[in-house]
Amino acid sequence: MKDGISGKLIYRKNYTDYPWNVDHLEIYFDIGSENTTVRAEMEFLLKDTTKTSQDIVLNGVDLQLLSLSLNGDLLSSADYAVEGETLTIPNAPASSVIKTEVRIHPANNSALEGLYLSGTFLLTQCEAQGFRKITWFPDRPDVMTTYRVTLEADKSEFPILLSNGNQKGSGDLAGGRHWVCWEDPFPKPSYLFALVAGDLALLEDHFTTRSGRDVVLRIYVEAENLDRCEHAMESLINAMRWDEERFNLEYDLDIYHIVATNDFNMGAMENKSLNIFNSKYVLARPDTATDADYQGIEGVIGHEYFHNWTGNRVTCRDWFELTLKEGLTVFRDEEFSADMQSRAVKRIRVIRDLRSRQFPEDDGPMSHPIRPDHYVEINNFYTATVYQKGATIIRMYHTLLGEAGFQKGMKLYFERHDGQAVTCDDFLAAMADANDVNLDRFGRWYSQSGTPQVHISDHYDAATQEYTLTLEQTTPATHDQKNKQALVIPFAVGLLAADGRELPLQLKTGQDAVKGTRLLLMEEKHQEYTFINIPELPVPSLFRDYSAPVKIFYPYTPEQLATLITHDSDAFVKWDAAQRMAQSAILEQCQRHAKGLAMRLDESLLKAFRGILSDRSADPALLAEAMNLPDEDYLAEQMEVVDVDGIHAARRFIKEGLASELKVLFAERYAELNDGQPYRKSSRAMARRALKNVCLSYLLDTETGESLGAAQLKSSDNMTDTLAAIQGLVLIDSALAGTALSDFESEWRADPLVMDKWFIMQAIKPGLGTLNKVRELMQHEAFSIQNPNKVRSLLGVFSMLNPTGFHAADGSGYAFHADRVIELDGLNPQMAARMASAFNRWKRYDEDRKALMKTQLQRIAAVKNLSGDVSEIVNNALR
Ligand SMILES: [Zn+2]
Repeated sequence: MKDGISGKLIYRKNYTDYPWNVDHLEIYFDIGSENTTVRAEMEFLLKDTTKTSQDIVLNGVDLQLLSLSLNGDLLSSADYAVEGETLTIPNAPASSVIKTEVRIHPANNSALEGLYLSGTFLLTQCEAQGFRKITWFPDRPDVMTTYRVTLEADKSEFPILLSNGNQKGSGDLAGGRHWVCWEDPFPKPSYLFALVAGDLALLEDHFTTRSGRDVVLRIYVEAENLDRCEHAMESLINAMRWDEERFNLEYDLDIYHIVATNDFNMGAMENKSLNIFNSKYVLARPDTATDADYQGIEGVIGHEYFHNWTGNRVTCRDWFELTLKEGLTVFRDEEFSADMQSRAVKRIRVIRDLRSRQFPEDDGPMSHPIRPDHYVEINNFYTATVYQKGATIIRMYHTLLGEAGFQKGMKLYFERHDGQAVTCDDFLAAMADANDVNLDRFGRWYSQSGTPQVHISDHYDAATQEYTLTLEQTTPATHDQKNKQALVIPFAVGLLAADGRELPLQLKTGQDAVKGTRLLLMEEKHQEYTFINIPELPVPSLFRDYSAPVKIFYPYTPEQLATLITHDSDAFVKWDAAQRMAQSAILEQCQRHAKGLAMRLDESLLKAFRGILSDRSADPALLAEAMNLPDEDYLAEQMEVVDVDGIHAARRFIKEGLASELKVLFAERYAELNDGQPYRKSSRAMARRALKNVCLSYLLDTETGESLGAAQLKSSDNMTDTLAAIQGLVLIDSALAGTALSDFESEWRADPLVMDKWFIMQAIKPGLGTLNKVRELMQHEAFSIQNPNKVRSLLGVFSMLNPTGFHAADGSGYAFHADRVIELDGLNPQMAARMASAFNRWKRYDEDRKALMKTQLQRIAAVKNLSGDVSEIVNNALR
């Protein structure tokens, strides 16, 4: 799929400025699914005015070149050189008008990059380097220009023709054809180009910006999905208002489009004024989408909208700087969701996600700083590190500077860089200059990979009433980087008395006493903080609101954890204390399991859960988060050598034990929450459903569970409750599960998004039988290996969320998955690379499994013409 340069490392330090300004791009498409002709005209002006000529380098892949001219002269193949993905015109004059005409074949494009076919309509995906599959152009983010796009097509087949910017004209042509012209007044990099052509239905609304601009909002979907767009529209309007109120940022064009497609490699794409979305993040109706789907839609609609400023108006100089736009925009969408719903619940979900997806990345073969120093295939760096860890670094600026200081920095950032392609250093400089602080050391977070560990010890002196916390930070060597430096770590701390009272914090070094949380700054490897006037040995409440993305080590006793769970004012600390307690209980039973000893349930965990279940004052969604046991992958990360079966057995044992001991409380709480009220979308209703379904998941492990699950399924009027019931029945291997699944299938077989859920429910089921089920499901008419959502739902879930299935001791899961990676690589290298990363943690397992996984990695690596995408992943894993 890739050209000959795959496998070559590209380094950040080798960046050179593009020597030309591209004044304007005039581009014309004659659209057809089989053949599309693209004519482009652009004027190149040499930046260095002392020179009279210079080579022009353009990028292109899989383009059938029909003609190429320079200042009116047609060029022959002797006049330029094509090598790999570049075309070079030597010594072009200082002002050069280039015209190109190429042909491309959208229907044959299974990589879903460039222009491709989805169902009956055509659409584009250009980030990171898809524009070069459309036409010859300097396809790099620091080349920004204005675009005028004319689209021509058959009117009955492609009645809707969309591109970026405002519509400038349209008309009918002979032979049932028509044309539409779009013009985007804002200079943009090519990765933000988009076009859509097809027969789509639309939902329209309006938004009036603070300065009075009327913006037309249109969501385009396939006609049968028109009744599922309301939540997306509401989310868009909320996002537009929120960005004005919180960030003082207003929308800048007269129109905003969202188009939903079933065939998309990513979540969504922020193309200027023409966002293209995976339909998963647009379509929702209570009977088709879960509460998590609704929340996901709100977050992703917000995310892409917020990119209009953080990404589009100010973009990245090169792809190494990806976190400049992504880390910042993820931070903004997290804040949006937090302001729309429960801040504490959103925060906990973000932290859970960071720990379970990003920490393993730091510890694995693809470890990289949020701003990587090199890559083979940039598509492999759309990672949890760049996005989620990147967002936590932005959050640390916010923690250090406060909301007002952070907004001052944002304002200066836009004043300095609007319309430019810049770097993370520019962002840091704006934050520092606006607040008159030095952030140079803080900048290490951009260049250092790995998860820092902070080891904390304490000492209480009853005679002097002094309490000292000693912090030691280390970052273990990572795959990409041996030597680590001390980082600037914001450390938010509180101290509780044994009865749960918050103690005033007064540092011995002088500041006034603070009630509640004190924010300290750790800048050295080793630091001590002594508090005075502490009347008793306190319980430390550490890293409140998770003030830095670190692993926190402190030898908490069960009593201390219980105090935090019951009394701490910080939602993260409470939740983390409950997770710690559950984690140590599970890991302890895992050890007993390995030694052949009987497992047992800890009294302190029972007591803590009893307290959580009896809490009628806290947000039910927070209680649900506290009772969700750490997942098997996260537990695996805590072990030296992963004991797949031991973790599974121990976690089950603890869950069943809690269920059986506390079944009366679970049943009471379930009955209270299962109040027969009709479905509502409010965040209060979602919180109640979250807790109800956590209670159900425990109750399913008791005698009454099956009938409760069946009753909930029967009476459910929404997908959240339906799914919780069916998934529960499947997991306990209930005799009712088969019928529940087949009823679900007959109801939804024509609905691709809902069928994704049906695949997930089956692929996630632990145990050795699931592999055959997955094989069987690949033959199902609703499955297609060409569709990324299906691949993620069936193959992704099996390999990444079903440890006992994937890691079957005989290696059958590995062999099956390697076959799929190889099969996918010929179709869609980006998706193949994502799937290949399921093997990334192979060195963490026992000798037998290690050998089995290594064999599969070697088998993939040996495939002829393997894409750069997959080759980078497997070769890094093997190294
Ligand atoms: Zn983004």
